[in-house]
Amino acid sequence: MTTTPRKIAFIGAGNMTQSIVGGMVRSGYSNELIYVSNPSVGKLQLLQDKLKVHTSQDNIQVATQADVIVLAVKPQLMAQVCQQLREQVPNLSDKLIVTIAAGIRIEKYRQYLGDSIRMIRVMPNTPSLVGQGMSGLVADDRVDQTDQDFITAAFNGVGATLWVADEDQLDILGAVAGSGPAYFFEFMASLQKAAAALGFDADKARAMVQQTALGAAEMAIASELSLEDLRKQVTSKGGSTAKGIEVYQAAEIDKISAQAVKAAVQRNQEMA
Ligand code: NAP
Repeated sequence: MTTTPRKIAFIGAGNMTQSIVGGMVRSGYSNELIYVSNPSVGKLQLLQDKLKVHTSQDNIQVATQADVIVLAVKPQLMAQVCQQLREQVPNLSDKLIVTIAAGIRIEKYRQYLGDSIRMIRVMPNTPSLVGQGMSGLVADDRVDQTDQDFITAAFNGVGATLWVADEDQLDILGAVAGSGPAYFFEFMASLQKAAAALGFDADKARAMVQQTALGAAEMAIASELSLEDLRKQVTSKGGSTAKGIEVYQAAEIDKISAQAVKAAVQRNQEMA
């Protein structure tokens, strides 16, 4: 990371924090500037042993000395955690507040933490846990470019980042990138079952499907062609792939995806 160093405190040392902090340290961010708090000691010990960051069981202690506070607790605990910060952390409005919790809107955080906060919402997805995440980010209008660059660099440590214009766009990103791993697993499992039903060994089918998904994703990332053109490039007229594609198109795969994404967006908005 080459942005100006700041002290960053993570509230909650769960799976996401472990991954993000790991990514930051691996990309060269000083562990001296990273603070993590969590109620139970085990996860803190792990972070201390592996990454040598500062740890504490006291949220207030870590938040008070930080320039940036990352809220990384489950959404249902957010109100309680924010209230504690609001009551006990001095100069909260001087700090950049970042949240990775799903579903809670910036407006709600203003109620929890006060009107004067400046904040970024990040929507990471589960593959962040293996360094291949797709994080969506949105900032309120008090956040400046330096804040954005700092947080972009932090989340680039666990994959790719994409800034969006507003929280409605973040809901769409959540429905595609947040829920997307489940869609891909569903599709991959269906291919695995299809191969197994024809007599292919199930474990070998899984290996074949996984590597094909990885190869297709890497080709898509490396290519400048549209996804449609890439698909056409591997579909010879009258060949076996064309036969398979005909089946997907007859089942209106575009329509199915449109319905799935719309349903997930709607659910994101109901839960906000
Ligand atoms: P997690 O593994 O359950 O971590 C949450 C952590 O918060 C736990 O270590 C828990 O500690 C700690 N905690 C509980 N009460 C606390 C308190 N009062 N103060 C400080 N820490 C407290 O969850 P996660 O998967 O890392 O998710 C964290 C956030 O990221 C959630 O809001 C989730 O919606 C969001 N998110 C996660 C993913 C994902 O793929 N995992 C994707 C997108 C967004 P104990 O276990 O010791 O109680």
